[in-house]
Amino acid sequence: MQTPEQPVIRDIVLIGGGHSHVGVLKRFGMKPLPGVRLTIICRDTHTPYSGMLPGYIAGHYSYDEVHIDLRRLAEFAGARFYRGEAHGIDRTQKLVHCSGRPPVSYDTLSINIGSTPQLAVPGAVDHVVPVKPIYGFNARWLALLERVQTHQGKLHIAVVGAGAGGVELCLAMQHRLGTELRQLGRNPDALSLTLFTAGPDILETHSRRVRQMFRETLRQRGIQVHANAAVNEVQGGRLHTADGQVWEADEIIWVTRAGGAAWLRDTGLALDDDGCIRVRDTLQSLTDPDIYAAGDVASMDNHPREKAGVFAVRQGPPLAANLRRAALNQPPKPFRPQKHWLALISTGDQYAVASRGGLGFRGAWVWRWKDWIDRRFMRKFNELPAMDDQGAGQNLKTAGAQLTSLTRNDDEAQQAISAIAMRCGGCGAKVGASVLSRALGSLQPVERDDVVIGLHAPDDAAVVRIPPGKASVYTVDFFRAFIDDPYVFGRVSANHALGDVFAMGAEAQTATAVATVPPGLESKVEDLVFQMMSGAVAVLNDANCALVGGHTGEGRELALGFAVNGLIDADGDAALRKGGLKAGQALILTKPIGTGTLFAAHARLEARGRWIDAALTSMMQSNQAAAACLRAYGATACTDLTGFGLLGHLVEMTRPSEVDAELDLSALPVLDGAEETVASGILSSLQPANVRLRRALRNQAGMVDHPRYPLIFDPQTAGGLLASVPTESANDCVRALKALGYTQTAVIGRVLPQSDALEPVVLVP
Ligand SMILES: Cc1cc2nc3c(=O)[nH]c(=O)nc-3n(C[C@H](O)[C@H](O)[C@H](O)COP(=O)(O)OP(=O)(O)OC[C@H]3O[C@@H](n4cnc5c(N)ncnc54)[C@H](O)[C@@H]3O)c2cc1C
Repeated sequence: MQTPEQPVIRDIVLIGGGHSHVGVLKRFGMKPLPGVRLTIICRDTHTPYSGMLPGYIAGHYSYDEVHIDLRRLAEFAGARFYRGEAHGIDRTQKLVHCSGRPPVSYDTLSINIGSTPQLAVPGAVDHVVPVKPIYGFNARWLALLERVQTHQGKLHIAVVGAGAGGVELCLAMQHRLGTELRQLGRNPDALSLTLFTAGPDILETHSRRVRQMFRETLRQRGIQVHANAAVNEVQGGRLHTADGQVWEADEIIWVTRAGGAAWLRDTGLALDDDGCIRVRDTLQSLTDPDIYAAGDVASMDNHPREKAGVFAVRQGPPLAANLRRAALNQPPKPFRPQKHWLALISTGDQYAVASRGGLGFRGAWVWRWKDWIDRRFMRKFNELPAMDDQGAGQNLKTAGAQLTSLTRNDDEAQQAISAIAMRCGGCGAKVGASVLSRALGSLQPVERDDVVIGLHAPDDAAVVRIPPGKASVYTVDFFRAFIDDPYVFGRVSANHALGDVFAMGAEAQTATAVATVPPGLESKVEDLVFQMMSGAVAVLNDANCALVGGHTGEGRELALGFAVNGLIDADGDAALRKGGLKAGQALILTKPIGTGTLFAAHARLEARGRWIDAALTSMMQSNQAAAACLRAYGATACTDLTGFGLLGHLVEMTRPSEVDAELDLSALPVLDGAEETVASGILSSLQPANVRLRRALRNQAGMVDHPRYPLIFDPQTAGGLLASVPTESANDCVRALKALGYTQTAVIGRVLPQSDALEPVVLVP
């Protein structure tokens, strides 16, 4: 994260985690530019490395060996990782439009989103499996691997497109599927693979010698090639070629020439005939010098080249250098891609062909060479060095000089200097009114009839009516950002704060926010507040909770909290108290645990990106529906899991209930990766304080070696609900909660009558 000594002056936004952008991230990680903030928007958290994909399909590599963990790489680079899909650019406002989040503002933009299959042939959209995006293809491939196990008779697979990608993929699939069939004791001849190409030959951009080698290999492997057979229509289970023939195909893989994503057409950027962004030698768009493009999606006007990962990789270093120069207000430098390049094309069976210009070699040694090159490339991104804190220790004068070199006018320079100067406290630390009103102006909190004075008519304080027969429920929560995405942080923070209200069995009524944001250029502070509060308001609105006010001040770190008011029936025992556990009841937990250790690991670059994705999804899931469901199944006690961890919250329930409890470690729902990270000794900084509660465990001694034992102390952010329901309704309740989307809900133990022992909790291994 950027520290206050380095206020953000320039925003470089990267769309897509392609082969060039991973190089950019690595370079900025190795040599950060103070005052420059990198943000990467990508659909995939794990981005594939094209060179090893055929090896993955053939079964020689695991998923993680062929993917770069973008979330981890971004963390290393000090970049913000926004998981999502860009679908538009507003070049006037300098905004990137993305799915499921507010627009992202940039000073300089770079696009490396690869190519998109062209599916203009009738029926293709519905009936073919395009090789890109890879995650879509991977899902179908895994399904095909399962299908081959039960398929009766011949399985016809058609691969449309006989460039290097198509040929390599076809050979890799045959190798893997054949291996699977052999392992099942079945005849691999049950497979029939056919390559279709519109042109007169396969591998048209390669030499005659290389084409000859591959024709030979394909013949020996029994793969048919249909040349001059442009596919002009696809139906379920068959395809039609231009020569009037119809071919049976159980699976049709589409590896034809690809082009630019459709949404690029609306950006106003100059595009080539395939819809790719036309760029100068500097990799800047012909139309807009603040927008760069690289990889398959870029088309270099002066140096047209084949679409290949090798060019995308080579464009990484000059792109990084030019993005750095753009931030420093220096002119970009031109780049000329190589004319000839070495292609190492594998044949699926740990054998490969080397092709360069008119040359061609083949052998198992070529595969080993390729494997060595590819693994070395991947190590650069998956084995990341520990970095010094570049910003720490520099004096204000040096920092000021660096920052002002990024600014574009006197006003920005003054704001930059002011941001690193000694800041005032008290009301002087308040974020400026105009910045705040602009940031919050476009938010639309829900309006409620019981809010008399709120943000719709701001005053010194909000005035809220309590409806007749209702009582107020008050709660407050506040914490600093644990993730670099302010929108997601805002969502989690609001969800966490609402958790207490739902755990009480109440409905949320209003919320007031308190936030701290690091000082910086007004425009950057405004954007940060806007992103964070957009996330929060989306969650509050979903809960019909009106944001009625708040306070934003400057602070060293980004932090956000809410005071939430709820409503509950005034009479009777409407509230679901912690003290309502009854002996004999089942204990239910609605969400998996492990957020503390996972985010500690994330900060140390030790967590996999998909673990963090899953943890964030869980943290953004509201407890509202779960609370209603638990109540419907007769819950008598409930609490939400937060900082004290599972054991801490359970003890908070057993004491006032005057009962004991049994906790079944093997039944605990646990987030993916959490067992691995605690096993590596990576624990939240709050864990030691929580571990003091081990004195509440009756049989602690025998349990400390259990892999899940540390997780009962793990502090949770926006955790699930822990509740007790009658044993006879527990299974139905779990089923209902799962149907509501709390898919990892489990019965994790039971409530016992109070014993004479001092320790109220017994662990079951
Ligand atoms: C089977 C096969 C094998 C191949 N083998 C080789 C090889 O051995 N050597 C070689 O040089 N080339 C190979 N290629 C070609 C190679 O795959 C491409 O040239 C290369 O992947 C292009 O890289 P890129 O960086 O442009 O984009 P990609 O690698 O395609 O990366 C694009 C990234 O952008 C993200 N993205 C896409 N759209 C959006 C959006 N709207 N918003 C946010 N993120 C988005 C994606 O999730 C992805 O992370 C092969 C191709 C195929 C099909």
